[in-house]
Amino acid sequence: MPNSPAKRTVDVLVPVALDQAYSYRVPAGMELNAGDFVRVPLGPRVCTAVVWGEGTARPGLDNRLKDVEDKLDIPPLKSELREFVDWVARYTLAPRGMVLRMTMRMGEHLGPARERVGVRLAGPPPARKTPARARVLALLADGLTRAKADAAQEAGVSAGVIDGLVDEGTLETVVLPPDPVASAPDPDFAKPEFSLAQLAAADALRVAAAQGGYTVSLLDGVTGSGKTEVYFEAVAENIRRKRQTLILMPEIALTAQFLNRFSERFGTRPAEWHSQLSPRKRARTWAAVAAGEVSVVVGARSALFLPYADLGLIVVDEEHDPAYKQDEGASYHARDMAVVRGSIEKVPVILASATPSVESEVNARRGRYRRIQLPERFGGAHLPSIDAIDLRNEGPPRGRFIAPRLAEAVRDVLARKEQALLFLNRRGYAPLTLCRACGFRMQCPNCDAWLVDHRFRKRLVCHHCGFAKPMPEECPNCHEVESFVACGPGVERLEHEAAELFPEARILVLSSDMVESFERLRSELEDVAEGRFDIVIGTQLVAKGHHFPKLNLVGIVDADLGLGNGDPRAAERTFQLLHQVTGRAGREEGRGIGFLQTHQPEHPVMRALILGDREAFYKNEIELRERTLYPPFGRLASIVITANERHEAEGYGRALVACAPRDENVKVLGPAEAPVAVVRGRHRFRLLVKALRAYDLSAYLREWLVNAPKVRGNVRYSVDVDPQSFF
Ligand code: ADP
Ligand code: ZN
Repeated sequence: MPNSPAKRTVDVLVPVALDQAYSYRVPAGMELNAGDFVRVPLGPRVCTAVVWGEGTARPGLDNRLKDVEDKLDIPPLKSELREFVDWVARYTLAPRGMVLRMTMRMGEHLGPARERVGVRLAGPPPARKTPARARVLALLADGLTRAKADAAQEAGVSAGVIDGLVDEGTLETVVLPPDPVASAPDPDFAKPEFSLAQLAAADALRVAAAQGGYTVSLLDGVTGSGKTEVYFEAVAENIRRKRQTLILMPEIALTAQFLNRFSERFGTRPAEWHSQLSPRKRARTWAAVAAGEVSVVVGARSALFLPYADLGLIVVDEEHDPAYKQDEGASYHARDMAVVRGSIEKVPVILASATPSVESEVNARRGRYRRIQLPERFGGAHLPSIDAIDLRNEGPPRGRFIAPRLAEAVRDVLARKEQALLFLNRRGYAPLTLCRACGFRMQCPNCDAWLVDHRFRKRLVCHHCGFAKPMPEECPNCHEVESFVACGPGVERLEHEAAELFPEARILVLSSDMVESFERLRSELEDVAEGRFDIVIGTQLVAKGHHFPKLNLVGIVDADLGLGNGDPRAAERTFQLLHQVTGRAGREEGRGIGFLQTHQPEHPVMRALILGDREAFYKNEIELRERTLYPPFGRLASIVITANERHEAEGYGRALVACAPRDENVKVLGPAEAPVAVVRGRHRFRLLVKALRAYDLSAYLREWLVNAPKVRGNVRYSVDVDPQSFF
C-alpha cells in the first residue's frame, strides 16, 4: 500500500481496571465524537468502550495503533458524565476505567435489547400428542399471546416442547412489544394539604427546582415531619419542567412503601434501579434513561452513574446513612458524589435527613448548604419520650436480655393491642459460643473472629468471610459433649426470650440473613404495618423508612453495642441509628415510648437521645472533630494492606510509609495491625493518612503510590479516601 495520509486517532476509555485511555485509529468514513460508544480490540478481546477525546499524538507509534471496529447506535455519554467519571476517579484513586464501567451497567452488553418472543395458537393440533403438548394447548386455548418463557413455565414444560409445536405449525411466534419501564408521572395527580411549616419548606424547594442551577439544600426534619411529601414538590416541579429526577435511597430493597407513596402522589410508579432488577429490566431501564424516556429514577447508589439524558434534580434521602458508602471496587460515598454530580450538571441537590451527617450539618452551619427545616411531626404527633434502663442496677436476670421495666412496658402495649419493636443490631442467636468445660471458643478458621450461632440456619457462621459449619457434637478441644454455652444475645435468642415472656404475642424476627427474598420481606413489612404481628424483633433492617402506624414502643436491647470500638464515627452512627429506630414509635398517635438499655446512661450520645437534645449531640461531636482534625475539619484516607503472611503485610506497610513524600500538611500513621487482623486467611495492616481540610489529599496519595514499591507475591493493598469503616 502506498503511504496513506496520517489517519485521525481518538483516545478511548475501556471499562476495565485501567486509568489510561488508549489511542485507536478512526477508519475512513466513520464519524466519531467524544462520548460515542465504540467497539475496540483490547488484547485478544473486543470490548465496548467510550471515545474520551481526540487521539494524543504518539510519534512513531501510530503505525501500530489498531482501528476502532464499530460505532454503537446508542446515545453518546454526555460530557457532564465523562467529567464526572474523571472527577470520581481522580478523587477516589479508582482507575478511570472502573468508574466508567459503573456508567455502563458494569460492562454488560449495551447493544439493542433482545426481542421478546411470544407464542400463540395458530394452526391445527399436532399429529403426535403427548401430555406435555396437551398442557401447552390447554393453556393457549384462550387464543392469547404469552411470552415463550412464561408459557413454558406455566404449562410446566421445557422450551423444546413449545419449539416443537411451533415447528409443526400448531403455534406461531410473534415479537412482543418491550415492557415499558415506567409511565409518565403526573405532577398534579394528588397534592397534599400542607401545614404552614411544610408549605414554606416545599415552596423553598420548589423554587430551587424551578430556578435550576447548582444548589444544595439540607432538608432537616424529625422523622414523621413529612420530608418526603415536601421534597415531592420539588420533584413535581422538575417533572413539569420535563427534566429527569434521581432519588437516591440507602437501601432500595426496603422501599416498597416509598414506591406506593410515590404512586399515590404522582399516579404511577417511578423507574427503579438496583441490583435486584432482572438483566432485561436493567437493560431496558438503562436505555430508557439514556433516551430520556424515564422521568424519575429511584435507586440505590449505583443509580448515580446512569447516563441521564437531561438530569434536572437529585434527591438523597436519609443522606446520613452509612449504606451510601461503597467499599468494594471503587470506594466512593454516594451522597458526596451526588453533590459533585449536581455541581457538574449544574442542578439542585436535596439532602434529606432527621439526623444529618456531621459533614452536612457543618456545611449547613457554615452556610455552604441551605438548611430547610421541618421542626415538628405532621399532625401534631409528638416524638417518643425516651428513657434509659441502667443495666448496672435494673438489668435483666443472668442469661436474659429484656429488663423487667422493658418487659412491663411491652405488656402494656400488648394489652392496648398496639405493637412493640425490640431492636438489637446483631444477627443470629449468639455472637459467641464457648465450651463450659474447658473455655474453648468457637472461632473462624479463616478470620480473626468468633463464629456466630445461627440456629435458624442450624449453622455456626463467620460474619466476615461467610464460613459456616454445623454445631459440633462435642468440644473440638476437650471432647466434652453438650458442653457449649451461648454467650450474649442475637435477635434469634431474643425471640426465644420474648416468646417465653409474652406467650400470647405474635412475634416476627426481621434480620437480613433470615429474609428469603426481597418479595417476602416486602410482604412481611406489609404484615407488620397492617398489624398482623404484635412484636417485631429486628436488626437495622427495621430502622429505615418504614411507617408502622400501631407501633408505640421501641426497646433498644443493647444501646452500647456500636460505641467504643475505636471507630471515629461510632458516636455519630450510634446517635443516628438509635434516633432513627426510636423514631419508629408513635408516628401516628404520638404516644410513643423508647427505652435504651445501657451501661452508660451518662454517655453524651445517650443523654442527647434521652433529653431529645439533638443540638447537644452535634455541638459535642463537632467540637471534638474540630479539636482532633477529624472530618469534616480534616481529611482522612486509609490504606489496607493484606497478605497471606503477617510479616509480608506488615513489611509492605513499612515500605509504603518509608516512601511517603514528606509534607508538613500530611501525617501518615501506621502500619498498625487492623482491629480484625485476619479475614479470609489474609493478614491485614492499616495505614491512616490525615491531612488538613484544604489539602488535596487525593493528589498526594497519587504521587505517593505511583512511586510505591512494587507489590510482590500475594501482597495487595487498597486505598479508601474518606473511609467509613475502620475494622
Ligand atoms: P419523614 O420522611 O419526615 O419521616 P414522611 O414524609 O414519611 O416524614 O411523613 C410522615 C407521615 O405523615 C406519612 O405517613 C405522610 O404521608 C404523613 N404526612 C406528612 N405530611 C402530610 C400532609 N401534609 N398531609 C397528609 N399526610 C402527611
Ligand atoms: Zn471467617
